[in-house]
Amino acid sequence: MAFQFICSICHQKYDPASLVWRCSCGGVLDVAPFPVHFSLETTQKRFAGLWRYREALPFDSSFTDWQQITMGEGSTPLLAAGAALPSVFLKVEYLMPTSSYKDRGAVVLMAKARELGVRRVVCDSSGNAGVALAAYATRAGIDCEVYVPASASAKKLKQMAEHGATVHSIQGTREDAAKAAIAVVEQENLFYASHIYNPFFFQGTKTYAFEIWEQFEGRVPDLLVVPVGNGTLVLGPYYGFQDLLAAGLIKTMPRILAVQAENCAPLARAFREGAEVAQPVVNEGTIAEGIAIAAPARNRQILAAIRESQGAIITVAEADIVAAHRELARSGLYVEPTAAVAYAGLSTYLRQADDPELSIRREPFRQGTQTAVVALTGSGLKASPESILTRPCDHDN
Ligand SMILES: [Zn+2]
Repeated sequence: MAFQFICSICHQKYDPASLVWRCSCGGVLDVAPFPVHFSLETTQKRFAGLWRYREALPFDSSFTDWQQITMGEGSTPLLAAGAALPSVFLKVEYLMPTSSYKDRGAVVLMAKARELGVRRVVCDSSGNAGVALAAYATRAGIDCEVYVPASASAKKLKQMAEHGATVHSIQGTREDAAKAAIAVVEQENLFYASHIYNPFFFQGTKTYAFEIWEQFEGRVPDLLVVPVGNGTLVLGPYYGFQDLLAAGLIKTMPRILAVQAENCAPLARAFREGAEVAQPVVNEGTIAEGIAIAAPARNRQILAAIRESQGAIITVAEADIVAAHRELARSGLYVEPTAAVAYAGLSTYLRQADDPELSIRREPFRQGTQTAVVALTGSGLKASPESILTRPCDHDN
C-alpha cells in the first residue's frame, strides 16, 4: 500500500517520495492513518527489538532491507522502581545501540529513506538524534549530512563523524543550524531527515507504546511519564496507543505526564494557561540540554495529545533534576541529566498531588494501586551534569 503524509492543519496529502517536509500552509506533516496489525502470538515468537511489530510500521511486507539496517534496537527492559515507589516502572531506553531512545525513530526513518531510494539525507541536531541518524544512515548505505551548532558537544559530534556523517558546524544557535539545513534541503531538493519534521521518525518512537503494552501483558499503565522538548516521546507513544485503541486491543490510553525543565518550558506554560499553541520562551539555561527547546515545532500537536490523554505538563527545577540524577545513579542507573527529568517529574507530581495549594487539577496518581512507567531516555556516558555548559537554545531532543 502507499503510505502518505497528511498535513496536521489543512489535511492536504502528499507523497513522501516528493521530498516535501512541510505543508504549503506551514503545517507539520503526519503519516496518514493506515491499518495496523498486531498479534502477540506472532510477536512473541520473534527476536527482540522493535521490528517484531513490523505489521504496525509503515512498510510493505515485501520490504526486507530493515534486516540489514537494524541493530536490535528496542525491547528495552522495564524495571520495578523499588519499594519507595510501588507500582512504578522504569523503561531503560538508554540500552540502545547508540545509547538513547532516538534509535527507535532513526532506524524507521532511515529504513524508509532506503525504501524510497534516497542516497543522501540532510538533518540538523546537536545531540542524540544526530548520532542515531548518522549511525543508521551508514547502515542503510545513505550519505548523511548533519548541521550542528558550533557549540554542540564535541563527544557527540565526534561520534557522528565516526559513523561517516559529514558534520557542518554552524556559528549561532540550534535554530541557526536548522535554518542552514533547511536552506540546503530546499536548494538541492534533498531528503530532510529531521527528527522533528519527518513523521517517519515518530512512527519509530510509537513502538515505545507497543513494548509497554506487551510488557504489561496486553494492558497499559495508568500513567506514562516522559521528558518533553520536541515531543518525540510524547507524540510517538501517543500514536502507538492510538493504534492499539483502533485495533481494539486496549480500551483507554494512559495519561501522559510530560515534564519540562523549569528554565525552558514553553509547553508547560501553554498547558497551564489553557492555550492551544505554545509561545516561544527564552531558554534560561538548563542541564537538561536534550529538552531545552524554546519553540517546539509540533507544540500544537503535543498539547492536544496530552490533553486528550487527560494528562498534564509540569516543570522541574534544576536542583530536582540533579537530585533525581544522583538518586538514579545510586540505584545503579547512570543516565544523562535530560533522562533524569521524567524521574524528577514523577516525584514533583506526587508531591504536588498531596498539596491542595498547588494547581494540579487532574486526578492524582494513586501509588500502589495505579501503575506508572517512567522513561530513562539517554545514557550518562554521553553527558554528565558537570560536563554540560548551558547555553540558550543550543540543544535539541
Ligand atoms: Zn496544510
